[in-house]
Amino acid sequence: MVCHAYRRGPALDGEARMMRVDDLKARAAAAIDEVAPRLYEVSEAMHAHVERPFEEVKGQAWLCEVLSEAGFQVEKGLGSLSTAFRGTVRSSGPGPRIAFLCEYDGLPPYGHSCGHNVGGPASIGAAVGLKSVMDMLGGEVIALGTPGEEGGNGKHIMQREGFFDGLDAMMLIYPGRDNIAHSRALVATRVNFSYFGRAAHGAARPEWGINALDAMTLAFNGIGLLRQQTPSDVRMHYIVTKGGTLSNVIPDHTSGVLTVRANDNATIDMMIPRINGVLEGAASMTGATLEKTWAEGPRGKPLLSNDAMAQLFDRNLQALGRATRARDELSGAWSGDTSNVSWAVPTIQPQIAMTAHPPHSHEFHEASVGPAARAALADSAKAMAMTAIDLMLDASALDAVKAEFMARTR
Ligand SMILES: [Zn+2]
Repeated sequence: MVCHAYRRGPALDGEARMMRVDDLKARAAAAIDEVAPRLYEVSEAMHAHVERPFEEVKGQAWLCEVLSEAGFQVEKGLGSLSTAFRGTVRSSGPGPRIAFLCEYDGLPPYGHSCGHNVGGPASIGAAVGLKSVMDMLGGEVIALGTPGEEGGNGKHIMQREGFFDGLDAMMLIYPGRDNIAHSRALVATRVNFSYFGRAAHGAARPEWGINALDAMTLAFNGIGLLRQQTPSDVRMHYIVTKGGTLSNVIPDHTSGVLTVRANDNATIDMMIPRINGVLEGAASMTGATLEKTWAEGPRGKPLLSNDAMAQLFDRNLQALGRATRARDELSGAWSGDTSNVSWAVPTIQPQIAMTAHPPHSHEFHEASVGPAARAALADSAKAMAMTAIDLMLDASALDAVKAEFMARTR
């Protein structure tokens, strides 16, 4: 949990403080400009060598290299995760512990279509920028490498193993369509399901067969119609993992996976029996047998984006010349493993405008290198470092972040 053990020195008043803040931010931004060519190099190398969750050895090595060059104390491999890492710099004085989270896995064959090759190096840039002014601020800056985001829930593992303990605030960014400081993410769960029928020759004796693919087809049609009667934040999407074996045999076994997401757990709880009804109805219509398993364990929580911290980030991003906009109901309709840890440490996970293409598409991967990707990387590194300076220089700003966090997690 958050710690209140330190206290900053006497607050500077009015103009003196503004000058000091602006000076520190300018210095941090200059340090980021200096390291930017290395960050672009790493970002582009990651893009050319996309690695799967928990196999991010190259990404880990490249990001840690930049941290070492910048004078961070680097640990590679944390707890049970060999591709996690931590780069730390402690200043001479007391102060908050601020972390920038780095993600560096991709989604082969869809490449870096989530932009982790932009967000990961941006967090390293923010850490390097903040380090350059640390001795004037006190406290500690941490670049925390959190592997296995794309379906691996790496941050949940790291949280269980204590790597988020004692942090005062943390942040990371995602490139996307817009500049949105107050982002959100959905709660998600999924069901694995199979239909079992009876195989028969598709032409000679079709009447003898029980078609497990018909059951699957009806299930997905039913889910499609169910969308009309769901709240607008509900997302349902699915794949068929087994559709049959031979085209001249009535399929006797099919299976699929369906993910459902919504703004909160109450909506998911409302959706589960309705999805079950559709899956069971499809079995009953065809005579097939249904077996299903909903994902086990805690389902996770929605992202708790800290509004007080997001406001600071928003102002800093605007100061860098980016027009920001408020989140709307549909922005950030994805999920991620930051959500759970955002209930343990005050967190923001803003979106930075890079491309209008949707994440998890080939086009997004293509857009994750080039001038817009470089600009997104540099600007988000600066905005994160500047936000950390706001929190470290002004005790009342950090107090507001913590008070909000305490109130919303009580
Ligand atoms: Zn993703």
